[in-house]
Amino acid sequence: MMSDVTLISIKEEILSENRELAGELRGKLNQEGVFLVNLMSSPGSGKTSLIVQTLRRLQDSYRIAVIEGDVDSAVDAERVAREGVPAVQLKTGGSCHLTAAMVEKGLEALALESIDLLFLENIGNLICPVGSDTGAHLNLAILSVPEGDDKPLKYPRIFQTADAFIVNKTDVLDYFDFDVEVFRNRLKRLNPGAPIFEVSCKTGEGIDGWCEWLQDRVEAGAIGQG
Ligand code: MG
Ligand code: ZN
Repeated sequence: MMSDVTLISIKEEILSENRELAGELRGKLNQEGVFLVNLMSSPGSGKTSLIVQTLRRLQDSYRIAVIEGDVDSAVDAERVAREGVPAVQLKTGGSCHLTAAMVEKGLEALALESIDLLFLENIGNLICPVGSDTGAHLNLAILSVPEGDDKPLKYPRIFQTADAFIVNKTDVLDYFDFDVEVFRNRLKRLNPGAPIFEVSCKTGEGIDGWCEWLQDRVEAGAIGQG
């Protein structure tokens, strides 16, 4: 029993430390005029593809950089760097979500004064990235059509707490039992105000609408939102 109690208090302490550091990072980013977007999803749902599609459209308007978080390898950072933006790969060596301390390391590797918009690709899962504030201004969750429209029922927390949602791979809707209206209704019950963008990173469908909305958020963030 005692060890259980101790474990809980350690976890609380780590979480509150993380929250505090995340708040500091957000303050620093605000000072430097950097808008940080945290992308969360399962592996393979299209975080890197969405980043690539987004930066191709917004690169002329903003100075963009990317921090990639993965357990191992640098393939995602290399893919993003080929688009001509600074990319940092964080290898977590087993950890399944990014903490504020890891993000701080990523920020140290970037020239923040010459960045307006920074994407953070969180390690792929729908569970624990939600519990760990990264210092981001915007938390985006991506669900792809093959994963199914039932995910809000199974992993409610990410769907309750993200600020906006992407349904990716709409080009394969005909081949899967993903009902967009059912998904929208499930999400509306959990998170009534959050916008949902239906996109295909493969065909480019819907990406412009998402980018316009993001641009509005970046502009609003630039006027001192915390
Ligand atoms: Mg990726
Ligand atoms: Zn984790």
